[in-house]
Amino acid sequence: MRQFLRTSFGMSLLATLLLAMMAAGEPLAHTYWNVVFKNMHRSAPSSTVLLTVDDQPNLTSAGLADLLERLRRRMPSRVLIDAPVPVGESPAGDAALAQTVRSYGSDISFIARSDTVDNLSADAFVLPARQIVGNAEVLVSAWRGNFLLYAVSAPYAITIDGRKYNTVSTALAGVRTGTEGDYYPDFRIDPSTIPRLPSKALVAGDAGASSLTGRTVIVTGVSKAPSVLYFGHSYTSAAALDIAGAEGLKAPFSVSLGPRLGSLPIFALVVLLTWLGSRAAGWRKAAAYVAAVGAAIVLPLILRLEGVVFAPDTAMMFMGIYGTLRLWQKRARRIQLTSASGLPNLLALANNPIPVGSDVVVAVVARYEEILATLPHDLHGECARQIARRIAAGSGTETIHQGDGGHFAWAEEARPLEMQLDHLEGLRALFAAPLLIGTHTFDTNIHFGLDRNEGLDTPTRVNSALATANEALANGRAIELFEASRLAEAPWELSLHARIEEGLRNGDIWLAFQPQWDLVGNRICGAEALIRWNHPTRGPIAPDAFILQAERAGRIDALTYWVLDQAITAALALNARGPRFQMSINLSAQMVDKPDLVGNFAEIVRRRQIDPSLLTVEITETSSVRNRPAGCQNLSRLRELGFRLSIDDFGTGEASLAYLADLPSDELKIDRRFIDRMATNPRDNAIVANTIALAHALGQKVVAEGIENAETLCMLRAMGCDLAQGYLLGRPENYANLEQTYAASLKGVARQV
Ligand code: C2E
Ligand code: MG
Ligand code: MG
Repeated sequence: MRQFLRTSFGMSLLATLLLAMMAAGEPLAHTYWNVVFKNMHRSAPSSTVLLTVDDQPNLTSAGLADLLERLRRRMPSRVLIDAPVPVGESPAGDAALAQTVRSYGSDISFIARSDTVDNLSADAFVLPARQIVGNAEVLVSAWRGNFLLYAVSAPYAITIDGRKYNTVSTALAGVRTGTEGDYYPDFRIDPSTIPRLPSKALVAGDAGASSLTGRTVIVTGVSKAPSVLYFGHSYTSAAALDIAGAEGLKAPFSVSLGPRLGSLPIFALVVLLTWLGSRAAGWRKAAAYVAAVGAAIVLPLILRLEGVVFAPDTAMMFMGIYGTLRLWQKRARRIQLTSASGLPNLLALANNPIPVGSDVVVAVVARYEEILATLPHDLHGECARQIARRIAAGSGTETIHQGDGGHFAWAEEARPLEMQLDHLEGLRALFAAPLLIGTHTFDTNIHFGLDRNEGLDTPTRVNSALATANEALANGRAIELFEASRLAEAPWELSLHARIEEGLRNGDIWLAFQPQWDLVGNRICGAEALIRWNHPTRGPIAPDAFILQAERAGRIDALTYWVLDQAITAALALNARGPRFQMSINLSAQMVDKPDLVGNFAEIVRRRQIDPSLLTVEITETSSVRNRPAGCQNLSRLRELGFRLSIDDFGTGEASLAYLADLPSDELKIDRRFIDRMATNPRDNAIVANTIALAHALGQKVVAEGIENAETLCMLRAMGCDLAQGYLLGRPENYANLEQTYAASLKGVARQV
């Protein structure tokens, strides 16, 4: 049920029923009938003629008696007196009038009107004087009205003082049964077409007077008689309404359920047709909706002409609400389309349920903004569409959603992880071929973020895949998999900046130094600065972990400059004590290509007055530098300033050799993975030996890191390795300890290596 009420159909139905209960449809019904009858006209029947007495303002009883006598000579079929009956002025005139009335017999009747619409109570009527009327019939005329007091319907008869009086319309129509309920006028009757004759014309014996023969003549003072509001014509004489009422009574049927219930049959039909339309598609849908609109608008009119009065308001209200809701939904859906390309956007993906057993994939196109910048504006959409087509073809997915900045997202069947990664690799290969947009050709590369967490809601999945795709792009990786556990880390990562600041302030973040030994001189010749964080609640956090987080959160700069500053303090102090002491710091790949890097480094060494050649900058993760040319240029400039450059973790990055060829470095650090196994594994041993030879051939110093046993150290020394670092020779320690170890090494009391 709740589900049903959420649909636009259910909502419209509920809203309509509530509004109908408050009679809110009345203005609609009013407007409908007013418009209908403004546009449909019929002439009044010639069988009823108004004999107007406005031209005899002071008609006495004798005068009226005289007029009736003259009228009788014209042989009307029947006469209705709709004017105030003058009585009491002259007994002779009254007697003459009573006599004339009597002589008419049953061919004369008197009309008593209610002076206001919607007042049907006995005291609304002034019955004519009984001494004049005698046995002649008295008819009544009174109308029920709508909220604007337009006449709507009338009862067949009204009881006054226990006596039942027929209404004028029933008398005119010849319906004399005591039917219960109301009848409805035919408002098509144009009041101006009712034949009229001024009483003076009858007195003067004009030719027009002969038109009274055989007709029903209503003797009326039109201008003095009450007027009523008449659909399509505003104020009209009450006699016209009686005539329209009689015409309404002549329709084949007379059916109405009253103003409230009368709207239900058409409403039910329209609801049914709309429901059919909402479930159907194509022409059936259109046909059902057309039928519903037709039923609401045309059917009440057609039926009314046959005498069946159903109100259209509830049905129209329902159609209006339903139509508005649907249009609004359509508009909301259109907003979910990106305009330039016509592809649906990420909202459209996030707002709709994703089929069970699906992965969410976001692809990000590298250098997308650059591509757009070189393309004329009218080709932007085509560019997005072409990428989407390529993705669709490769992924087998029909709908590809486009986000800002070169993001494309879709949901596809979740395969086993290995297969899924292979599949995305295949899709990536499709982008090896350049894009051809207009006359422009572009080489591009694509990176993927993959979300496989079915348990999460769709917006979270889309956002996660998006963030992971951005990471893949930033780190230069082809595919990055989103781990749900990271969501729990999100608040921590997002507030990392403040936490780092706090850690630096209160000393939870500190710098450790691991000594480096000169294998030729047999002494400590330098140290690597390694960052540490003892978090008060989380305990020691591994540097790899929080540096990655700081990189993601864009907080790595502050941390790096703090490390540089601390490392310089240590280097200055140690160099003051004796021979040259070389200090190494690690530079995050995220920072390598930053435009302000060189300027900041230069400024710091100038301020601290240190010879930059005492500082070694270690760089790693070479493949994830976003802007390679800018990165290479920065590193060359650092070297020109005097800094030494070291390639960290050599042998692990995918492009180590290429990097070695491109970059002007001074030192190479063989990754501890090789060092660890070289004593036991001949292959690793060969790699280390040859790397040392290669480095020397290129004029580089070689550092071996991660030396944990004497055997390995021995081998390295034999191979001609220049520098050594590892737990065997000294763990990372605080500055005070480093100072002691260093002092001991200078005195030669340290362990001999
Ligand atoms: P890395 O630059 O390769 O640093 C060497 C890592 O090897 C250090 O780990 C060190 O404690 C560890 N190590 C040294 N000798 C041995 C040994 O004999 N055996 C074993 N098993 N490990 C040894 P740590 O301090 O955990 O640092 C990990 C990584 O975090 C560093 O790798 C570096 O990439 C990064 N890092 C540390 N400090 C900084 C920093 O200030 N800035 C940046 N950007 N990265 C840093
Ligand atoms: Mg390092
Ligand atoms: Mg290393």
